[in-house]
Amino acid sequence: MLDFSLSKEQLDIKERAHEFAVKFMRPVARKYDETGEWAVDVYKAAFDFGYLQALVPAEFGGAGKTQVEEAIVCEELAWGCGGLYTSIMANGLAMTPVLIAGSPEQKKKWLGMLAEEPRFAAFSLSEPNAGSDAGSMSCRAEKRGDKYILNGTKCYCTNGGYAEWYALFCSTDPNKGARGTSCIVVPRNTPGLVVGRSLDKMGQRASNQVELYLNDAEVPVENLLGKEGMGFIIAMKTLDQTRAAVAAGGVGVARAAYEIALEYAKTRIQFGQPIFSNQAISFMLADMAKKIEASRLLTYQAAWMTDNGLKNSKQSAIAKTFATDTAMEVSTDAVQILGGNGYSRDYLVEKCMRDAKLLQIYEGTNQIQRLVIAKEIQQGN
Ligand SMILES: Cc1cc2nc3c(=O)[nH]c(=O)nc-3n(C[C@H](O)[C@H](O)[C@H](O)COP(=O)(O)OP(=O)(O)OC[C@H]3O[C@@H](n4cnc5c(N)ncnc54)[C@H](O)[C@@H]3O)c2cc1C
Repeated sequence: MLDFSLSKEQLDIKERAHEFAVKFMRPVARKYDETGEWAVDVYKAAFDFGYLQALVPAEFGGAGKTQVEEAIVCEELAWGCGGLYTSIMANGLAMTPVLIAGSPEQKKKWLGMLAEEPRFAAFSLSEPNAGSDAGSMSCRAEKRGDKYILNGTKCYCTNGGYAEWYALFCSTDPNKGARGTSCIVVPRNTPGLVVGRSLDKMGQRASNQVELYLNDAEVPVENLLGKEGMGFIIAMKTLDQTRAAVAAGGVGVARAAYEIALEYAKTRIQFGQPIFSNQAISFMLADMAKKIEASRLLTYQAAWMTDNGLKNSKQSAIAKTFATDTAMEVSTDAVQILGGNGYSRDYLVEKCMRDAKLLQIYEGTNQIQRLVIAKEIQQGN
């Protein structure tokens, strides 16, 4: 049966997350955007609210949230600040390979520690020469006795500078290409692992991305998730599940920009009337509202499919592409509606525009999402 209304419990989750964003994110969003510092105070509060450990199952001490609940929260967090949202959301990204392929002991160990205190983990798939073509990675894990010896370089690892461990993808059999890929949990204190400098970015500057250098880094074989050769499947399944949270981020950033533009259009007087009275402006706002609503519905659908154990490669790629393209379009139009003020740092819309751009790039660019959608529809899905 179709039901488009949120339950009382879901509405409470949304309201609480909005209050969190108003109280802990908006007041410091500009500061962390400018400094790029690690927002310890915000992440401590996010832990107290259960957001850092949202996807850790209750049996391991976490909040045990569903993907729909995660999407509801993520929209509000991204409304608060795109960069801070990414730091919090990416903890869910990092823990998903463990949720998908970890043994009960691995879940207890790696997820349990994230539920004990404000702690981070990171998802490390990308390499300097293997971005969209992630299956061509060259980072190598060689099995020697009861250890894997890792060598290679990973990049763009979100939260990597502050993570306790990395869900790291590497090749255990270079002759097999993507089918020779495995996912190994690499603890931060692993000898031979060096964390590089933080990336200086256009937007989402409160979030942290680093390169990781692995020089004969030794990891126990028991840190392998699933079986050797399952890494690429784990990565793709992970991204199918987590793209709804990125789509939700798109909805949140778009909504933040839209609300400011709407208020401005109703109060800014030119030629003796509010600029909203011009159809050129009101139609822009109508299009914004239309795309935001559609994005949210697609986001909930993709998340709901994960919660119900349904394969959602197509729907999560559609939701991610539509919602994050919407964030980019809406925030760009919001800057236009505010005119000169839109371009100044006195208003948040320019930040929304910078933050939105990244949503179209990470967790698979929107070109790659279109490849996923095309492959799915070619197969009749
Ligand atoms: C701030 C930030 C955070 C990130 N966080 C993480 C993280 O936590 N973990 C992680 O593993 N990675 C992370 N990434 C990496 C991100 O997922 C990659 O940047 C992305 O997948 C694209 O890879 P690339 O940058 O190498 O671009 P490329 O793959 O080199 O692509 C360049 C351009 O070509 C296009 N393109 C490539 N192939 C095709 C094709 N076949 N058809 C059409 N167009 C194509 C792309 O869409 C893009 O526009 C992050 C990146 C950034 C910038």
